[in-house]
Amino acid sequence: MVSILTISGRRGAPTVVSHPQVSDPITGQKPDEDCAVVGYVGSRNAFPFLLTGLKSLQHRGQESAGIATFDGSMIRIKKGMGLVAEVFRESDQSLKDSLPGNIGVAHTRYSTHGSKNLENAGPITISNSIGYIAISHNGEITNAVQLREEMKKRGSGFITSSDTEVMLMEISRNIIELGINAGLRNAVSRLRGAYACALMINGTLYALRDPMGIRPLMLGQVGDSYVIASESCVMDILGGSVIRDVKPGELIEITPSGYRTVFIASTPNTAHCMFEYVYFARPDSVIDGSEVFSARIQMGRRLAKEYPVDADIVIPVPDSGRAQALGYSQQSGIPYGEGLIKNRYSERTFIMPTQEQRANAVRLKLNPIKSAISGKRIVLVEDSIVRGNTINYTVKILRAQGAKEVHVRVASPPIIAPCYFGVDMKTRDQFLARGKTLDQIANEIGADSVGYISIEGLIESIGLGKQGLCLGCLTGSYPVPIPGEKYSFQSELENYQNP
Ligand code: 5GP
Ligand code: MG
Repeated sequence: MVSILTISGRRGAPTVVSHPQVSDPITGQKPDEDCAVVGYVGSRNAFPFLLTGLKSLQHRGQESAGIATFDGSMIRIKKGMGLVAEVFRESDQSLKDSLPGNIGVAHTRYSTHGSKNLENAGPITISNSIGYIAISHNGEITNAVQLREEMKKRGSGFITSSDTEVMLMEISRNIIELGINAGLRNAVSRLRGAYACALMINGTLYALRDPMGIRPLMLGQVGDSYVIASESCVMDILGGSVIRDVKPGELIEITPSGYRTVFIASTPNTAHCMFEYVYFARPDSVIDGSEVFSARIQMGRRLAKEYPVDADIVIPVPDSGRAQALGYSQQSGIPYGEGLIKNRYSERTFIMPTQEQRANAVRLKLNPIKSAISGKRIVLVEDSIVRGNTINYTVKILRAQGAKEVHVRVASPPIIAPCYFGVDMKTRDQFLARGKTLDQIANEIGADSVGYISIEGLIESIGLGKQGLCLGCLTGSYPVPIPGEKYSFQSELENYQNP
């Protein structure tokens, strides 16, 4: 008998927010999201580890949070809309009892439009003749629409609009036909795009990463237990250690007694997302051997070499521009200072639907310190400019506080093309930098000058080489074939290596 107990919802707040579902004009897909995944298997109760893991990765997704555990006979899942601490209240003692078991997977979700509802929140679970399966997925399956149509013709039904459900159904069908290991291998050969996953099949945990390694995934150890997580900071915070990154294309099977590689679906190139280093990941994480903080310092240093300017003070747009501003200051010798205070309780500005709402939200988020700004020639360092809302407003408030000059320096090259692999930058018309010269941009945002780090400068700062990174949003050329877009290199699965 199969029974899945689902507990959902968030106390005192409506759980479901519906928005019209927008399809991408090129791929026809629903916009998707970047997210955090965590998995645990070991000798202890999984829930507290998964909860701390999710809290450590809250920056990767604030829309919903969920945890699924398996106690040897039954899977249980709780998920809800909102922040991790809102969905899982520390004071709720019953939580630990309602999510028993020494294995589990967890997920936070970040999406910006499309369907923001509880069905699409992770982890997603099903039961089939093999047993219980739960998946937490970070990334975006680029051929999800085709796979869904194929499966529908064969009689499958879908509950959510999420590509993760398509992936789960593909895995389910294949492991029933071929057994778990061969089934997972076959399922992976049919999936395109980005996926870093924590997968639980009954009492076994699996770490699965797409063949290009687009999104990050780590394997770690806490005492005698194993943890997988999107970022290495989770292992630090749990008092454990990183064993290693999950390799691109690798499936690792993990039980309380150890782990082993089941297969590696290899490709000639990797395509780690450069935006993880620019903005997404925590600076205290190390991803694929490159520490995010050091990469950001290097980006700032490089920017100072590429776009030097005579000024009195280097100010970051907090928080994500801090390390880059520090690097700029170190290289240029211009003192670093704080000039903008960020309200850490304000809502995210990036996702607001109207321009007016976004402008108001940025105002709530950032406020200047008058004495640090008045009469100064300022270098304002920002990690990235997407639509330009943040920078536009920031330059204006610095001017309003009497800044003598404002020189904007951006630690990512101009973003000019959509992301299909999990960051919410979906249509070309939204990008501030598209089709404009630096002078035009400076003019538009009211800055005295603007400089963006070069693509070469970014690559060298990250230190993984050009062939190792996905630069799709900077070049419009992608590591995975996308209909209507340029394809940067041969990336079909070439072979499978058995360990
Ligand atoms: P813009 O305001 O130009 O549209 O977006 C750039 C600003 O938002 C930068 O300050 C950057 O740190 C931040 N940002 C960039 N990408 C994202 C994202 O995917 N989500 C959120 N919340 N902020 C982002
Ligand atoms: Mg920022």
